[in-house]
Amino acid sequence: MEYGPSVEDSSAVRDWLAATPARGHFIDGGFTEAGDLFDSRDPASGDLLAQVTQGTADDIAAAVAAARAAQPGWQGLGGHGRARFLYAIARTIQKRERFLSVLETLDNGKPIRESRDIDIPLAVRHFYHHAGWAEIMADEFPGQQALGVAGQIIPWNFPLLMLSWKIAPAIAAGNTVVLKPAEYTSLTALAFAEICQQVGLPKGVVNIVTGDGETGAALVRAEVDKIAFTGSTEVGRAIRQATAGTGKRLTLELGGKSPFVVMEDADLDAAVEGVVDSIWFNQGQVCCAGSRLLVAEAVAPRFEHLLQRRLATLRVGPPLDKSTDIGAIVHPVQRDRILSLLDQGIAAGAELIGSPPAEGCFVNPGYLRAVSPANPLWSAEIFGPIATLTTFRTADEAVALANNSRYGLAAQIWSESATVATDLAALIRSGVVWINGANMFDSAAPFGGMRESGFGREGGRVGLAEYLAPPPVETRPDPEPN
Ligand code: NAD
Repeated sequence: MEYGPSVEDSSAVRDWLAATPARGHFIDGGFTEAGDLFDSRDPASGDLLAQVTQGTADDIAAAVAAARAAQPGWQGLGGHGRARFLYAIARTIQKRERFLSVLETLDNGKPIRESRDIDIPLAVRHFYHHAGWAEIMADEFPGQQALGVAGQIIPWNFPLLMLSWKIAPAIAAGNTVVLKPAEYTSLTALAFAEICQQVGLPKGVVNIVTGDGETGAALVRAEVDKIAFTGSTEVGRAIRQATAGTGKRLTLELGGKSPFVVMEDADLDAAVEGVVDSIWFNQGQVCCAGSRLLVAEAVAPRFEHLLQRRLATLRVGPPLDKSTDIGAIVHPVQRDRILSLLDQGIAAGAELIGSPPAEGCFVNPGYLRAVSPANPLWSAEIFGPIATLTTFRTADEAVALANNSRYGLAAQIWSESATVATDLAALIRSGVVWINGANMFDSAAPFGGMRESGFGREGGRVGLAEYLAPPPVETRPDPEPN
């Protein structure tokens, strides 16, 4: 793929990568020597970006020990003391926004416009937001204590943003952490570790151990007080089994196949933009993507006409090019998985609208028509830029179709009637419901799923409470004077 004139300059990132071609973990405030290495590649070009260390159970134990030793001091700093560091982290990410956006785009394949305008700014906001919480913790959660050491495992679709969702509330509340990034995208987590050093975060408060699922499983088994996991439903299930009976607090943010309901009275132009922001954002690698389009039969022809017109304008191209809408899929393994699911859906009778898969690690955006609940793609999370489309006749049918899923993460409802939308919202079983909008994220708003999309919430007051234990000591009130 040729890079055009609007390509973002990546020289500073390439210098940073070249300076340390083999990278170790970040434990107890310092970087370890590199160990057994695996490759981290730019999925768009296939080029090697860096080699990263495969974390062992010993590495995890060292990181947990560092976190354990640091925790009382960190808790003892108090909310105001901790807030100072969260503000400094937020400000430093903000100052390094351009560098981090380019690094994220190179490592993950997402369009630079998305990492620059969405991933990194939202990560910044998350740290600012939780700095504010640290300031008022003592008043808002009187007597509550941090859990201790949190083990955190994140996926590759929003690497630095997911890291922020995990680390900011945990350390604001006085916990220390050991975080394992996904093996495809370790690099912004290691750049974040440098930021921790730069702001003088006390040693051991944040530890980053890179590696694959085995490293993650070692973290789950380690002496931590909580596991916070975002990733697939299958791995979430294994983690739930592994932590059962251990007393470890657990939150799981898992997969989805979220309904995107277009009612007869919807603003169809707005709904089409909603599809763009939903399933054609981040190459569809979004847990809460509105990937099941459920459209009122009466407006379906018009909606599809508008949708196809908009689809034709999307540019698939080099992720560093500022005019690119659809970048690379994170890894060839994921691309192959998407293509094999597409084949299954088409073989079961669905019609693909959109061009055939692109070359390299790219998949063209599109959607599959006439997907009934009998089609395997009704329930399979494609995790690529392909939605399914099904029509309905009545609101009752829309609700039944929306709820016909093992997941329950995010739902979207498009209607110009507040009554219709809120009535439907109350009937759809979903952790989050967005009305006339997609991916409306706010650090203050709790996010999370139900059913096989997981449990627990991230964001705001409720998310913070997931990192706190109730007051351990209760005193009997003085007896009433006679
Ligand atoms: P994954 O579950 O394979 O991996 C997620 C993380 O878990 C990675 O860091 C991986 O190394 C680690 N891991 C793998 N096996 C493990 C094990 N046995 N024990 C502990 N850790 C292990 O998922 P993925 O392919 O990286 O991500 C895609 C999936 O994540 C999708 O299904 C998507 O819906 C889901 N997801 C959910 C959310 C959410 O907020 N609900 C957000 C992003 C992604």
